[in-house]
Amino acid sequence: MKYDVIIVGAGPGGIFAAYELAKRGGDLKIAVFEEGHALADRKCPIDGDKVKSCIKCKNCSIMSGFGGAGAFSDGKYNITNDFGGTLYEHVGKAKAIELMHYVDDINMAHGGEGTRIYSTAGTQFDKICMQNKLKLLNASVRHLGTDINYIVLENLYNELKEKVDFYFETPVEKIEKNNEKYTVYANGQTYECEKCVISVGRIGSKWMEQVCQELDIPTKSNRVDIGVRVELPAVIFSHLTDELYESKIVYRTEKFEDRVRTFCMNPHGVVVNENTNGIITVNGHSYEDPEKHTENTNFALLVAKHFSEPFKDSNGYGESIARLSNMLGGGVIVQRFGDLVRGRRSNKNRIEEGLVRPTLAATPGDLSLVLPKRILDAIIEMIYALDKIAPGTANDDTLLYGVEVKFYNMEVEVDENLECKHKGLYIIGDGSGVTHSLSHASASGIYVARKILKM
Ligand SMILES: Cc1cc2nc3c(=O)[nH]c(=O)nc-3n(C[C@H](O)[C@H](O)[C@H](O)COP(=O)(O)OP(=O)(O)OC[C@H]3O[C@@H](n4cnc5c(N)ncnc54)[C@H](O)[C@@H]3O)c2cc1C
Repeated sequence: MKYDVIIVGAGPGGIFAAYELAKRGGDLKIAVFEEGHALADRKCPIDGDKVKSCIKCKNCSIMSGFGGAGAFSDGKYNITNDFGGTLYEHVGKAKAIELMHYVDDINMAHGGEGTRIYSTAGTQFDKICMQNKLKLLNASVRHLGTDINYIVLENLYNELKEKVDFYFETPVEKIEKNNEKYTVYANGQTYECEKCVISVGRIGSKWMEQVCQELDIPTKSNRVDIGVRVELPAVIFSHLTDELYESKIVYRTEKFEDRVRTFCMNPHGVVVNENTNGIITVNGHSYEDPEKHTENTNFALLVAKHFSEPFKDSNGYGESIARLSNMLGGGVIVQRFGDLVRGRRSNKNRIEEGLVRPTLAATPGDLSLVLPKRILDAIIEMIYALDKIAPGTANDDTLLYGVEVKFYNMEVEVDENLECKHKGLYIIGDGSGVTHSLSHASASGIYVARKILKM
C-alpha cells in the first residue's frame, strides 16, 4: 500500500494533522495507524461492580484509541505558552497561540459551541496570589468537559473517515527509511509513504525510544513531576474555579526552593485511576453536564524533579515511586491531610468519619511511606500556602491521593518544522517531548500538516 502521508497515533496530534491535511490537501492519500480501538469501541472494563480495579488490558481504552489519552479527559484546552509544552520554542510564541485558537475554532465547529472559555486576564487573583508568595500563570482555558469532548471527537471522526484510511488495533512495529521514503511495518504488512508523522503520545514513549535508536535520532530526558491529587469540598475553591475554572498556581518552597504547582483542576469532578504501562497512578476529570457534578473539587500538586548527569532515567524514578504505592496499597493510596501531618496512616474509619466523601475507592494508607521526604515537605508547604488564598485547603479532612506522576517523554531533537534529522519524518505531540497538553499537541498536528502542504 502506498500513501502520501502516514500518521502514527490517533490522539489529538494525529487527529489534527489528519484534519488539516484532509481539509487542505486536495487528493492526498492519508492513512492513520492506531494501536487502540475506534472511539465507539473504547470501553474501560472497570464498572465498579464486577470489575473494581484495573485488569491491565492489552490496549488501555483510557489511554489509547481514537482521541488518544485525551478522549475521556476533562477536555481542558489551555491557550497559553506559559504551560502545556514548549511548542513556541520551535514555532514562535505568536504562531503557537494562533494555532491553539485555530484548534479551538475547529472544536467549536464540531460540537463544542456553547462551552465556556475562562481567562486569567485582569483577574484579582493575580495580586492575591502574589501577596501570598504564589504565582498565577496566565491562560485562557476552553472547558469542553468529558461529555462534549467525546462528541467533538465523534464528529471529527465521522468527517475524517470519508477522506482518511484509519487502521485501528494496528500498532506500528517499525519505521524504516528507504531513500527519501518511509516504510511502515504493521500487522505483518508494509506500507510506503512520502511523509510520516509520528504522534504516539505518552503511552508510545517506549516505542518512540526504539524508533529513535533505530534511526539514530538524538534525544534527551531529565524530568519527572511527582505529587498527589488533592480532593476537597468544591466550595473551598469556588471563588477561584467560578472565575478561572482552572488556576495554575506555582509556589517556591522555603525549605529547598523547589517548584510546586497546581495541575489539572477539576471543579465538581471525580478522582480516577490512570494506568501507565501497568503502573496505577491517580488523575482526575469533571463533566460539563451539571447532573454529573460531585460536591468536590480535585487538583494535583506536583513537584518537578530535574536530574543531572549521570542519572538519565527520570521516568524510571517516577515509576519506582508509583510502584511503591501500588505495592503498599494495591493501587492508589488515600490519606487525610490531618493524618499525614500527625504522622499516622488513614484507615477506613477515619476516611468515613471525615467530611470529604472520596470520589475514588482508593486504599487508606500513609503517603509518607511512599513519597521522598523532600517531595512530601514541598507538598505540605504548598497546602499551607494555598490555605491563605483558599482557606480550608489545609483542613484535616482534605484528602490526598497518591501518587500522581507526570511522566515526560524524552525530548526528540526536531527543528523549527518539527521534523527530525531525516527529511519527511515529523515527530509531534506528547511523544516528541515538545508538548504535554491537548491544545499544544493538537496545534503541533496542524503545524506539521501545513509544513507538509508547504503552506
Ligand atoms: C485522564 C487524563 C486527563 C487529561 N486531561 C487533560 C486536560 O484536561 N487538558 C490537557 O491539556 N491535557 C490533558 N491530558 C493530557 C492530554 O490527554 C495529552 O497531552 C494529549 O492527549 C496528547 O496528545 P498526543 O496526540 O500527543 O498523544 P496521545 O493522546 O497519547 O495519543 C497517542 C496515540 O498514539 C497511539 N499509539 C502509541 N504507539 C503507537 C504505535 N506504535 N502504533 C500505533 N499507535 C500508537 C496511542 O494508542 C494513542 O492513542 C489528560 C490526560 C489523561 C490521561
